[in-house]
Amino acid sequence: MPISNPAPAKLLLVDDDPSVIQAASRLLTEFGRCRFARSAADALRLLRSEPVDLVLLDAEMPEMSGFELLALMQRSEDLAEIPVVLLTSHLDEATEEAAFQAGAVDYLSKPIRPGVLKARIGTQLRLRRALAEVRQLSRTDALTGLANRRAMQERLEQEVSRSARAGSPLSVLLIDVDYFKGFNDHYGHVAGDRALVQLAACLREAASRASDLSARWGGEEFVAVLSDTDEQGALAVANSLHQRLLALDLPHETSPFERLTASVGIVTRPGRSGPAGEPHLGAQEAVECLIAEADAALYRAKAQGRNRSLQAGKDA
Ligand code: GH3
Ligand code: MG
Ligand code: MG
Ligand code: MG
Repeated sequence: MPISNPAPAKLLLVDDDPSVIQAASRLLTEFGRCRFARSAADALRLLRSEPVDLVLLDAEMPEMSGFELLALMQRSEDLAEIPVVLLTSHLDEATEEAAFQAGAVDYLSKPIRPGVLKARIGTQLRLRRALAEVRQLSRTDALTGLANRRAMQERLEQEVSRSARAGSPLSVLLIDVDYFKGFNDHYGHVAGDRALVQLAACLREAASRASDLSARWGGEEFVAVLSDTDEQGALAVANSLHQRLLALDLPHETSPFERLTASVGIVTRPGRSGPAGEPHLGAQEAVECLIAEADAALYRAKAQGRNRSLQAGKDA
């Protein structure tokens, strides 16, 4: 499906020859905003200060060549994904092959041919947009728009590692809708889906820090990860969710609460000052442990009557 009005792209043109910069920049402005660098060192500085969607890079420059800059970018976690189109005055097969081997997505020979340059840059930008869209979709829950389980799993693994490294607390909430089978039976599956969307909005508002992430973990189960958040902070988020559900006041006739409610299991990994979690575990195992503990707390919250939050390792 063609994208009708794509956001303007950010491009970086690197060439030591000002006449190339002048000629190419006029052609590139139709794709968006174009910045320029006259050397690899300048280009690196610009790339580190602001991400770009594509780099058009001269292969032959004094001091550091385009090939050397490309090699540096490939080794950098932040820059390796940026597509680089190499520009060179060498037309031979060996240079062309070397460009692709170095990690360039395409290769253009000088002098610049405007039509060819525009077509090839346009193709690379379209590919990049499509890839970003697919990546986004592969990490999003289609019903609620929250992150999906895959995205949450990845994020949890990053967060347990970060928390262990930085000695900062980490909290995870596992949320399960109460008496939801009864809700579906009484109001129908479509209304059930709508209720999940509304609950997702409440959760998003409750866990609203930039560093928080909420996800649909399974059918009517949700997970929120709260980085740098201790027990009190996690309880506050859980309480805020209960409050928001109360305010939502979604009728649920077959529940003893008569409105939609949820139960929450909370687990908190203390920072360095508290007892260590499981330092011998890998990130994946550590996440499994966290979720299992949250699940046990959630189970107790259900057993104690539902519509409440309980913390792992606490009696009440
Ligand atoms: P409890 O309070 O113990 O959690 O009871 P419950 O009825 O919520 O729990 P149970 O696990 O027995 O039922 C979960 C129900 O959630 C089963 C299914 O009908 C419903 N459900 C799961 N995923 C979806 C979904 O995507 N859409 C809808 N509408 N319902 C779903
Ligand atoms: Mg040059
Ligand atoms: Mg369930
Ligand atoms: Mg349930």
